[in-house]
Amino acid sequence: MEFDILTIFPNILDSYFKETIIKRAVKKRLIQIQMHNIRDFTVDKHHTVDDRPYGGGPGMIFKLEPIFRALKKINRRKKSKIVLLTPTGKQFTQQKAKSYAKLDQLILIAGRYEGVDARVEKLVSEKISIGPYVLSGGELPAAVIIEAVARLIPGVLGHEDSAKSDSFTINKEYLEYPQYTRPVKFKNWPVPTILLSGNHKSIELWRNKNSKKARKKRKK
Ligand code: SAM
Repeated sequence: MEFDILTIFPNILDSYFKETIIKRAVKKRLIQIQMHNIRDFTVDKHHTVDDRPYGGGPGMIFKLEPIFRALKKINRRKKSKIVLLTPTGKQFTQQKAKSYAKLDQLILIAGRYEGVDARVEKLVSEKISIGPYVLSGGELPAAVIIEAVARLIPGVLGHEDSAKSDSFTINKEYLEYPQYTRPVKFKNWPVPTILLSGNHKSIELWRNKNSKKARKKRKK
């Protein structure tokens, strides 16, 4: 799968993408990540990407034309979507990640400043927010989406089954049960004895019960 990010900071995510599962997925050619500098698609000598908002107000807005030109230059794959990252978009979810993982290509537009000219909406498949808060740029949201999607692509995770039982996968409300590892006892915090019993049926029951408990606790 190919991920394309339109940004004015094409190197900002370098170190992140050069580590962890993303690095491995790129090496195994399961995913490709291309950064496109919006500034390269300006035509004036100062490479201006932004301008003042019509109607007044603080801050600057990304201009439409450089984004339009950048999108035109990207080779489109068969199953491809263009997503504008914005706090005003639809909330990103595990279900959305699953649907993106079936695509051949996801093109992500990362804004800065006060956002982008509203006409960029005419160029995109959808607007997505990673949560009800405001960051200074769309690059971290792009990285969040890439990581959530990449780990669902077969072969990306070391253990194929681990993504299947993750929170929000079995259904959108599902939360994973608590997990423990060695040591069995630390201070007065022992591992629940049922998990040491070797009785798979009882362990499954305990996990189901505690998964539901986690859901209730989260709602409070
Ligand atoms: N003025 C905009 C508003 O009030 O909705 C916020 C602009 S924000 C400072 C600059 C850029 O960061 C946005 O264009 C978007 O690409 C990105 N961004 C910030 N928060 C985001 C979020 N929660 N989800 C997705 N993108 C976000």
